[in-house]
Amino acid sequence: NRRITLAARPHGLPAPQDFHLQTQPVPVPGDGQVLLRTLYLSLDPYMRNLMDEVGPGYAPPVALGATMVGGTVSQVVQSRQPQFRPGQLVLANAGWQDYALSDGTDLLPLDDMAQPSLALGGLGMPGFTAYVGLLDIGQPRPGDTVVVAAATGAVGSVVGQLAKLKGARVVGIAGGADKCRYAVEALGFDLCLDRREPGLGERLTAACPAGIDVYFENVGGDVLDAVLPLLTIGARMPVCGFIAHYNQASSSAATDRLPKLLATVLQKRVRMQGFIILDHYAERFADFRREMAEWVAQGRVRLREDVIDGLEQAPLAFAGLLEGKNFGKLVVRVADR
Ligand code: NDP
Repeated sequence: NRRITLAARPHGLPAPQDFHLQTQPVPVPGDGQVLLRTLYLSLDPYMRNLMDEVGPGYAPPVALGATMVGGTVSQVVQSRQPQFRPGQLVLANAGWQDYALSDGTDLLPLDDMAQPSLALGGLGMPGFTAYVGLLDIGQPRPGDTVVVAAATGAVGSVVGQLAKLKGARVVGIAGGADKCRYAVEALGFDLCLDRREPGLGERLTAACPAGIDVYFENVGGDVLDAVLPLLTIGARMPVCGFIAHYNQASSSAATDRLPKLLATVLQKRVRMQGFIILDHYAERFADFRREMAEWVAQGRVRLREDVIDGLEQAPLAFAGLLEGKNFGKLVVRVADR
């Protein structure tokens, strides 16, 4: 059993030496336990927050020497739980390793899925994040202008497509010409701006002549600077993440955006609401799964994955995610079925 542990707390972007690849015997399931083999491992931005000594509050930090956490699509190898049988596929939290034990309480059967890795992406946590954040908090109306960055990523790509389904005009922001072309041509966004090109503020102003009614906040940083002057009165701002800052050790290293942000929220009567997706499963996940499965089946929502081969590639692929190297939902294929 190979497992990747957190060897050191990263300073800035996680480096290879912050991780340690170990080999151990495959664990043996005890009474009431299920032995799982990882097929796909999800890599998500929140993992960076869990690497810091002080965690983000909604989950404990990963201890030094502990296996990195993560959602997985796993196959049941052995089961000492009557409701799971060998061979079955489940959504699990096995982390960055080949094999894991579970008591079954956190497992969700995935028997009927043609492409099970989507349970880690558009049909799972990131897609659900887009659904709750945009529809319940952002509440776009027909004709509204919706702006989202990380526009071709796991969350942003779904945000933009759902906003189109609700009749909004969608302006995406993404890193690179390829991603921008994809957002317009494949995902149906009205426009997409390359955040790596100069003059983002001027280009966003030109792209949003009637202002921005919903800004789905994924990134912070320069994008937020460009967005603030364009928010309309009563604009909504679901605060989902701020990935541009995750590698910054202290907020003082960043430009002080606070006075500008507070002034804008006040003057424009902006409704800004943070959310943690874990809070919404009980109430909304069933609605999401039903609606999203339908939209995907009808071709109204497209889901793109960026699949990396091999567990040992996880640290590098994860660092790449924080630099915008992924194109679509990032997953690691750990083993074949
Ligand atoms: P993505 O698949 O979108 O991958 C991350 C992307 O972020 C990169 O590809 C890159 O896209 C963009 N990015 C990286 N660095 C910067 C930067 N400095 N400035 C601007 N953009 C940057 O990840 P997810 O869809 O999984 O996550 C998107 C956001 O949603 C994150 O902030 C994450 O923390 C948050 N999230 C929050 C949840 C919640 O419960 N609140 C749940 C799930 C996710 P590009 O190069 O195209 O700009």
